[in-house]
Amino acid sequence: MELVAVKEGLARILVPKAERIYDAPVFYNPVMSLNRDISVLAVKVLGPKRVLDALSATGIRGIRYALETPAEEVWLNDISEEAYGLMKKNASLNIDGELYEEGDRSYLWGEKLVVINKGDANRLMAENFRYFDFLDLDPFGSPVEFLDTALRSVRRNGVLAVTATDTGVLCGAYRNACLRKYLAEPIRGPLCHEAGLRILIGTVVRYAAKYDLGVEVLLAYHRDHYFRAFLKLKSGAKKADKSLSQLGFLWADKSGRFEYRRGFLPDKPGASGPLWLGPLKDESFVEELLESARDHPLAHKKTLSFLQLISEELDVPFHYDTHTLARACSLTPPKLDVIIQRLRELGHSATKTHFSPTSVKTDAPFGVVAEVMKNV
Ligand code: SAM
Repeated sequence: MELVAVKEGLARILVPKAERIYDAPVFYNPVMSLNRDISVLAVKVLGPKRVLDALSATGIRGIRYALETPAEEVWLNDISEEAYGLMKKNASLNIDGELYEEGDRSYLWGEKLVVINKGDANRLMAENFRYFDFLDLDPFGSPVEFLDTALRSVRRNGVLAVTATDTGVLCGAYRNACLRKYLAEPIRGPLCHEAGLRILIGTVVRYAAKYDLGVEVLLAYHRDHYFRAFLKLKSGAKKADKSLSQLGFLWADKSGRFEYRRGFLPDKPGASGPLWLGPLKDESFVEELLESARDHPLAHKKTLSFLQLISEELDVPFHYDTHTLARACSLTPPKLDVIIQRLRELGHSATKTHFSPTSVKTDAPFGVVAEVMKNV
C-alpha cells in the first residue's frame, strides 16, 4: 500500500494514498479531525487513566490521546491485518519507546504504555471487564453491535464515547433498519437529526439499564454525516431507572409544530421513538472543553467555533425550523437573528442550534413562535 504523511494535532502519521477514502485499505477521513479534536479535548478534561480506541484503523485517534492528553495507558485495536501493521508503524513514529511484539499484540513502553492489538473489538472488550476509564467506539455505520461489550468493559463511572455514521438509518431514510438496529421509530423532516441523535442515546440508555447503569450525557452532537455522544456511566439501579425515565416520544407535523412526552410507552399514535428527552450537554463540561480548546493544537479549523455554538445553544428538546414554519404560513422566512431577538424581548430564551442553520431553539410555545414569524 502506498502511504502519504499527514499531520493532525500533535501527530504525524502515514495514511494510504487513495482517490476516495472508502477505497483505501486502511480508513482515514480528514473531515473527522473535528470529531477527534473534540474527543482529545474530552480526554484531556476528564483525565482518564486507561483509554481504549476500539476501532482504530490508522491509529490516529489513540495516538492523539497518547500525545495530547495525560492518559497513562492507551490501547489501539483493529480487526484488519493492514490496519494493525499501520497502527504499529504510526505509533512508533510518534511515541518514543521500545516496541515489543507478542502474537497479535504489541506493546510500546515509553513515558506511557501504548498497547496495539489486532482482533475483534468485542472479544478484546469482553476480555477486559470493567477495565477502561474512557472507551471510544468509532465504527463504520452503527455502533450497536459493540454496545453490550463496551458497557461491560468501561469501569464504573467511566465514559463511553460513541460515533454513529448511519445517519440515513437514524434519520428515517431506512426506517426498517432503524427498527431493527435501534428498536425505534425514526422521523423524517426538519427534526430528523436531533431525533436521530436522541434515538442513539436512548438506545445506549436501554442497553445500559440492564446492567444497572445510568447514563449522564456530557455532550452529544450531530455534524456532517455522523452523530457523536460522550456518555458517563453511573452505577446503580436507581441511576438506571432515572435515565430510563428520561426516555419518551416525539410527535411532529408538517407545519413545524411538535410535542414530546416522557413515558415508557407512547400514549397516542404517530409517535417517533423511544428517544432520549434529557439534556444533550453538561454545561460545565462544555465550558471546560471550550476553555481547553483555546490553547490546544487543534487540527480542524471549525472545532473552536463549533464548540462555541454548542456552548451557547439552549438545551431543550427539539427546535423550530423557520423555513418550515414560513412555508406553512405562506411567508418569506424572516432573518433568524430577528426572530431570536423578538422571542427574547417577549421574555423567552432563544438561540441558534447546531442542528440546523435555519432553526431556533426556544422555550416559547409553537403559537408564540408562529406569531413572531408573522409579525417581524
Ligand atoms: N477511529 C478511526 C479514526 O478516527 O480514524 C476510524 C475507524 S474506521 C471508521 C472503523 C474501523 O473498524 C476499520 O478500520 C475496521 O477495520 C474496524 N473494524 C470493523 N469491525 C471491527 C471489529 N469487529 N473489531 C475491530 N475492528 C473492527
